[in-house]
Amino acid sequence: MDYPDFPLPEDGCTTEIMPGVLWLRMALPFDLDHINLYLLEDTDGWFVVDTGLGTDATKAAWDTIFSNLEKPVKGVIVTHMHPDHIGLAGWITETFRVPLYMTNSEYYTARALLNVSQDSSRWNDREYFTRAGLEAETVERIVSSGKGFASVVSPIPLAYQRLRDGDVFTINGRRWEIMVGSGHSPEHACLFCHELHVLLSGDHILPQISPNIGVYSTEPEGNALKEYLSTLLPFLSLPESTLVLPAHNIPFMGLQERVNGLRYHHKRHLNALLQACQSPQSVVDCLPVMFARKLTGRNIVFAVAECLSHLNYLLFDNQVSRTINADGVYQYTTIDTLADDVDTGQPDMDFTTV
Ligand SMILES: [Zn+2]
Repeated sequence: MDYPDFPLPEDGCTTEIMPGVLWLRMALPFDLDHINLYLLEDTDGWFVVDTGLGTDATKAAWDTIFSNLEKPVKGVIVTHMHPDHIGLAGWITETFRVPLYMTNSEYYTARALLNVSQDSSRWNDREYFTRAGLEAETVERIVSSGKGFASVVSPIPLAYQRLRDGDVFTINGRRWEIMVGSGHSPEHACLFCHELHVLLSGDHILPQISPNIGVYSTEPEGNALKEYLSTLLPFLSLPESTLVLPAHNIPFMGLQERVNGLRYHHKRHLNALLQACQSPQSVVDCLPVMFARKLTGRNIVFAVAECLSHLNYLLFDNQVSRTINADGVYQYTTIDTLADDVDTGQPDMDFTTV
C-alpha cells in the first residue's frame, strides 16, 4: 500500500486532494482521536461528506471552514449513523436548509437511537453481557454508564433523501456511485467516482486499523461478520489506480491489497477461535485470542461485540456449537468435522464462503 504525500489538514483548514475534492479533520475525544471528513464541489455549492461529533468545538471548526468556502453548502451526505459521522448533520442541514442524504437503515437507526427512553428496562443488555461471561459487577457498570447517543448527536432533520446501493450522484459532471457495505453498521454508504478513481470509504475500509465488526445487544443473533466479508468483495473489482479516502488515518493506494488484508485478518481470528474452542469457551474466555492488549473501559464493549460477531459466524456456519451453562453463560465448542481424516486436528484454513 502507498500513502500519497498529502499534507495533514490543520484544525479549521482543508487539504486539496484534487480540484473539487477537499479533505478536513475534526478532533475526537477517544483513543481514535480524529475523523476525516470531505467536501465535494458542485457547480453551485459543496456537498459535505460526514460531519464530526456534535460538540461546540466541532461547530467552531466548521464555522471557520464555511467562512472560507466561496460557495454555499448544498447537501450533507452521511456514510453511516455512528456519532462521529452524523453528529452535526442536523446542525449543518438546519443552518443551510439543505437535504440530508443517507441510506434507509442508517437514517432510521439514528432517529430511533435519538429517541431511546432513559426509562426503558435494560434486561436485554444485562442478558447479552451475562451470556458473554462478564461478571455481574462489570455488567452493571457497563449498563449504567454512557451518556447516550443524543449527548453527541444534534437533532437530525425529519426528512431525508435516500441513498441506495448503485445510485449515482452527479457532482460537477462526475459520477459518484453509492456502494453499500454492511457489518460495521447496517447499511454503510461508500462513494466511488468513476471519472476520478476516488473512493470515499467511510469506516467500511480503513488502512492500518480494522473497522469494528460487532454483534451488539440490539441484535444478539446477528451475523455482522458474514455481511461484512460479503460486502467487501465488490471493492476488489474497482480500478487498481483507485485513491481511497477513508474516515480515519490517511488516504492510501492499494485498495485490493487492503481488502484482502482485512479478509485475512478476520479469517485468522476465526481460525484462532476454532483452535481455542476445542474445549468449551465463553466470549470472555475468547477475548485474549483476538486482542493482545489489556481491555479497559468502553473498549471491553467493542471487544465483546467483535468476538461475538466471529463466534456467531462460526455458529451459523456449523463450525462451533453453543450451549448455555448453569450461570447463564454461552459456551462455544468447535465441531471437529475433520477428526476422521486429519491427524493434526487443525481446522480447515480455507473459507469458501468469504
Ligand atoms: Zn463507524
